[in-house]
Amino acid sequence: MAVADPADEVVAFASELIALDTTNSADTAAAGRERVAAEYVAEKLAEVGYAPTYVESGAPGKGNVVVRLEGADPGRGALLVHGHLDVVPADATEWSVHPFSGEVRDGYVWGRGAVDMKGMVAMTVATARRFKRDGVVPPRDLIFAFVADEEAGGFAGARWLVDNRPELFDGATEAIGEVGGFSVTLADDVRAYLVQTAEKGAMWLRLKATGTAGHGSMMYEDSAIATLGAAVARLQAHRFPVVLTDPVRDFLAGVAEITGMAFDLDDPEAAVARLGNLARMIGATLRDTANVTMFEAGYKSNVVPSVARATVDGRMLPGREAAFEVELAEVLGPDVELLWDTLPPVATTFDGALVDAMAAAIAAEDPGAAVLPYMVSASTDAKSFARLGIRHFGFAPLRLPPDLDFAALFHGVDERVPVDALRFGTRVLDRFLRTS
Ligand SMILES: [Zn+2]
Repeated sequence: MAVADPADEVVAFASELIALDTTNSADTAAAGRERVAAEYVAEKLAEVGYAPTYVESGAPGKGNVVVRLEGADPGRGALLVHGHLDVVPADATEWSVHPFSGEVRDGYVWGRGAVDMKGMVAMTVATARRFKRDGVVPPRDLIFAFVADEEAGGFAGARWLVDNRPELFDGATEAIGEVGGFSVTLADDVRAYLVQTAEKGAMWLRLKATGTAGHGSMMYEDSAIATLGAAVARLQAHRFPVVLTDPVRDFLAGVAEITGMAFDLDDPEAAVARLGNLARMIGATLRDTANVTMFEAGYKSNVVPSVARATVDGRMLPGREAAFEVELAEVLGPDVELLWDTLPPVATTFDGALVDAMAAAIAAEDPGAAVLPYMVSASTDAKSFARLGIRHFGFAPLRLPPDLDFAALFHGVDERVPVDALRFGTRVLDRFLRTS
């Protein structure tokens, strides 16, 4: 009997998962769409002998699936491999192919979720199936978790599971998930795989200013809108200080070592500016940021409103939580009321047996390539799992063509992933999980 090769299965799984529209938006939040993908994954796992646990938080349709494969040494902490099933919205009129087609064309699997992150989910399902079919006993317990709602903060996914079903992750000490493990080409034929060891923290601020209300034809000394408008304009013009954190320093040192480029670490911005496609992604991890994302005030053209409100998306570097708050309050000034909602940064070191296993698995499939740590500016489910004391790495291995602007594909138009990269990633994941 012919047994499916996981490197063949992965392409079909990625394509079929993309074709299941699991858009997570304000419009679809009330009726979660993850269930179809959760059932799909659960069926693929059950087919080879797993007994998947299907969990919903109470939010209908936001399905999560967890299975565990027992390892040889129950005394060692388990390794969690997690991926989210939801995707951000896509406007089909902007795309070259329909975003929920999962079409395989020109060597790519196309569609929303191809890189964020149904490709990795497909790689994980294909590998988990192979292990079960072949009776592979990994060195330690493996927990495979496929979760809902990541794109809306994980309140019906990772965050909810950590708060309400922590026993599903019993004994887990380390985890891999997004966003890392992809290759970048730094110079001619010099390839490095970026393992994510840190995430900036996130702080959502609700701002409020008040002023005198009344008829639009009168004279006023103050204005809620003008006060808040001036404050957010100051914030948008503000530049937070450059801080060279360990992950970014290690990344730049690694790039210097493998390319021979000489960086002046006293001027990290100039160093990062020389990184081509990567400059934008790495540049966002040199300093805190704060962008105004929503502004609302007024309800009628001849009424001066008493209140104006705005929302700011703030992102701070590890170690900058307190300083960031102080600096924000200073820039916004005393006339603006602030409400904070914070997800602290997470960071780990780039060392130990798990990192060695990642590097060895990459080296076996792409000899001569380097493996470097980096920090991602965005937030992932890692922040939820970190609350269980789990050490996290972004490691979803993909070998990418040199000219592909990978960072632009996340939440982007014409999101796609190379077929070869999925097959490569499945082989790396297989090696890594057998030796982790
Ligand atoms: Zn994602």
